[in-house]
Amino acid sequence: MSDRGATSEGPRLSRAAAHRLSLYLRCLTAWPSEVEKISSSQIAAAVGVTDAQVRRDLAALGHLGQRGIGYDPRELTTVIREALGTHRPWRVVLVGVGNLGRALLRYQGFRSQGFEIVALFDNHPAKVGESFEGLLVRPLSDLPTAIHQEGAELAILTVPREAAQSVADCLVQSGIRGILNFAPVVLRLPPHVPLVTVDLAIQLEQLTFLVQHAHEAISPSLDE
Ligand code: NAD
Repeated sequence: MSDRGATSEGPRLSRAAAHRLSLYLRCLTAWPSEVEKISSSQIAAAVGVTDAQVRRDLAALGHLGQRGIGYDPRELTTVIREALGTHRPWRVVLVGVGNLGRALLRYQGFRSQGFEIVALFDNHPAKVGESFEGLLVRPLSDLPTAIHQEGAELAILTVPREAAQSVADCLVQSGIRGILNFAPVVLRLPPHVPLVTVDLAIQLEQLTFLVQHAHEAISPSLDE
């Protein structure tokens, strides 16, 4: 993932810290509901960072937990969700209804985590007017009205690399607040529109790097 953009709401966290918070949240989601406390070392062990790192990250969110007793998992979940912005639902448009776009559309996990894809866009005449997962594919010219009418704030961009910048510009002009880009290209967006780029080829490169150096003392940990 590329790093750009910062939250204007809540505590100012680095992207690395926000990434760790997402991992802590996964750990908390899997925590047995009958266990009423969780310690920083339990979170650290589950996520693969140091105990001190967990305590530092959580201290940045406020006065949480009690020394020697631990954290209340429910309170921690609420506070982390608020910091990440996932305490409320987000409406999302998807542009580029090709192989990847349709695969993402079929994934049910986004909705259960509060991300609802509410409109689809493509510029291919054969796709416009078609329906996928109950949503009609609309032409790009519909973007401004659709974003406004649907109350969409985020966009998933799954168009070919050559089209990505112009579609991203269109999304920005249409009032989108943030873009999750899958095209393998560095997009230029105005500073008020955060961008996250997902590139599995880069992740694979990171993996080959780690595999090549597996016998050396390179830490794969997420600690800063
Ligand atoms: P695809 O060709 O199957 O789908 C692309 C879709 O975008 C098509 O439906 C096409 O009609 C549409 N499109 C093209 N130009 C457009 C425009 N200007 N406006 C609106 N729609 C437009 O491609 P795919 O295999 O689904 O890949 C989509 C993108 O995702 C590519 O950029 C690819 O490189 C990237 N990708 C990224 C990862 C990753 O790890 N991030 C993995 C796979 C693919």
